[in-house]
Amino acid sequence: MNLKLVSRDGGLMSPLSWIADALQDLKSQGLLRRRRVTQVLPEGWCEVDGRRVLDCASNDYLNLAGDARVIAAAVEALRSTSIGARASPLVCGRSPWHERLEHRIACFEAQPDALLFPTGMAANVGTIAALCGAEDLILCDRANHASLVDGCRLSQAKFRVYRHDDLLTLEHELRKDSGVRRRWIVTDSVFSMDGDVAPLQQLCDIAERCGAELIVDEAHGTGVLGENGRGACEALGVEHRVAVRIGTLSKAVGAQGGFVAGHPDLIDYLWNRARSQVYSTALSPAVCAAATAALDIIAAEPWRRTRLEAASEFFRTQLRIAGVETVFSSTGPIVPVILRDPNAAVELAAQLEQRGFLVGSIRPPTVPRDTSRLRIVVTTAHQDEDLARLATAIREELGKAGLQPGDRRSRPKP
Ligand SMILES: *Cc1c(COP(=O)(O)O)cnc(C)c1O
Repeated sequence: MNLKLVSRDGGLMSPLSWIADALQDLKSQGLLRRRRVTQVLPEGWCEVDGRRVLDCASNDYLNLAGDARVIAAAVEALRSTSIGARASPLVCGRSPWHERLEHRIACFEAQPDALLFPTGMAANVGTIAALCGAEDLILCDRANHASLVDGCRLSQAKFRVYRHDDLLTLEHELRKDSGVRRRWIVTDSVFSMDGDVAPLQQLCDIAERCGAELIVDEAHGTGVLGENGRGACEALGVEHRVAVRIGTLSKAVGAQGGFVAGHPDLIDYLWNRARSQVYSTALSPAVCAAATAALDIIAAEPWRRTRLEAASEFFRTQLRIAGVETVFSSTGPIVPVILRDPNAAVELAAQLEQRGFLVGSIRPPTVPRDTSRLRIVVTTAHQDEDLARLATAIREELGKAGLQPGDRRSRPKP
């Protein structure tokens, strides 16, 4: 061991002394995150710190991550090829499993072509940075996922953030700049922390009025919304009006990876120019096989989506009966309970864990200040009895702590 790193009392000394202060700072603001280990159990359960808890924190909406058929597909691919893809897809990492998955995604999305990325984050960052440039103007909803924001920053385009769903400001800002090459609107289709659906029809109207194009991230829409599970764009009938649609294979699809589906020119351009897939090793072939099998299941078993909708509605009703407020515009499986104070969110999540429920506690910078929250995710695997018990547990723990959840839009108490 490097002796310089050991202090007199034998403790480890950080080579960057300011980091200890920065961590202390985070801790005093209630923003320090702990690393934990979660062991997945069947049917929507998991084990954390030796306790079996209902998993209401992951994004495995359709309960496919552990599906025997999905895992069998991965094992079969593993048996006949390598674990790693060994190179960037552009060099020699694109295997028959990658090609099959891209084809499967294109069919699923009813688009002529599709391109894989190592993750959904890489798809967002790489696609926006490849399509938008310094002469462009991007308008970005304030509630957009961090990976969209990072893509906008990386693109070096002029980049403005509008208040969540503030369409008047959006249109005003889009019209302001005259010397702009191209205008873009970038948005989540389902907002990951509020669970509400973007007003995509109005966004398309504004884009058309202002000569802008839309980039939509369907991370929480794919598999969940729409007649065929293609997401919010399908559900709202705007697929043909959205220039670029990005998705992830890591949420409802239960696997890993990101994708863009669309016109062959768009796909060819991203294949050549999207640095996050050009300069990163391709997905594992086993993951591609798993995602392909999962998309087959999503297409063949629409009951999963129907059950998810019913379970989400059931849980929301139970919360309403219990008098627990959520974000009023939110629908579907992402259920936020806004507590404002980060420590309160962490405390409440810990109490719920004691009672057998794993829920996310989400704090800044993931959400704006004073909107720390529980983020509860309903999945196809959850049973009504368990969801009803969770709603009761939330009401009781809120009562014990003297907390009153509020809507995202209400002002924090002084
Ligand atoms: C999770 C998420 C991503 C990133 O997807 P990964 O496949 O996990 O990298 C992108 N956008 C949104 C809105 C997300 O919630």
